[in-house]
Amino acid sequence: MMRDIRLLGAHLSTAGGLLKTLERAEELRCNCVQIFASNPRGWKGRSFSEAQATEYRDAMSQSQVRELIIHAIYLVNLASPKLEVYEKSLVSLRNDLVSAGRLGVKNLVLHPGSDLGQGGGVERLVQALRELLPDIPSGCRILLEGMAGTANSLGDLETIGRIGNILGPKIGVCLDSAHLCASGYNLGNARDFKRFDQDVKKYMGYARVGCVHLNDSKKPCGSHRDHHENLGKGFVGRQGLINLVKHKPLRHLPYIIETPGFDEKGPDARNMRELKKYAGAGG
Ligand SMILES: [Zn+2]
Repeated sequence: MMRDIRLLGAHLSTAGGLLKTLERAEELRCNCVQIFASNPRGWKGRSFSEAQATEYRDAMSQSQVRELIIHAIYLVNLASPKLEVYEKSLVSLRNDLVSAGRLGVKNLVLHPGSDLGQGGGVERLVQALRELLPDIPSGCRILLEGMAGTANSLGDLETIGRIGNILGPKIGVCLDSAHLCASGYNLGNARDFKRFDQDVKKYMGYARVGCVHLNDSKKPCGSHRDHHENLGKGFVGRQGLINLVKHKPLRHLPYIIETPGFDEKGPDARNMRELKKYAGAGG
């Protein structure tokens, strides 16, 4: 019998180019990788060229990496009441979708954004996504990420589920263990995990989920604060993380760590080993 092949990886830098990213992935023994497709610190957007993408895809096919995920840069806010931010966000996502098509990316993760307390965020987000639908390459989805529930930020499971239901199969969902914890699901607790499972079924269904972010949380469950912690060292805790890693309806999906790292340099080998331990843990 074939063993389950688990897709376990990390968010990695593209400094030095995508081939360098692949090297980093191999060092950390990742078989899936998440990247920002453009500089996360500015609006100066770009797409990867056809030549860069071809070179990358050839190299990836020779490597252990099976899937590449793009995360939209954090500046992007399609719920923003500020027209300039909204329009720059659309441009940035269009660039990322071009990269996604060239790189063969199936999942592009997007934070639903913040209405800055002015309301109307869901409407703007839906309008923007509707405009972007024709630009989503075939075989690719935009995944709305479930968030911690910080003031004014969209991203509770009910809202992102509803948006997916309005816009159809091109819009999916990304679940993040740290955000689930901060938003009030204590994943290490059997009753709370069941409530999480029922909410996913009720609001979106597992078919819509395309990726899991596996992070621990520096802030307590229900705190509505978003601060990632190294695996096993925070309020999600080992048991909560294991419950999510081993959850049958999600197991076929890529799991990506976005941990601060034990030397504060981002996802590292120690967190990857921890993730693999969870995936291998009995039961
Ligand atoms: Zn994210």
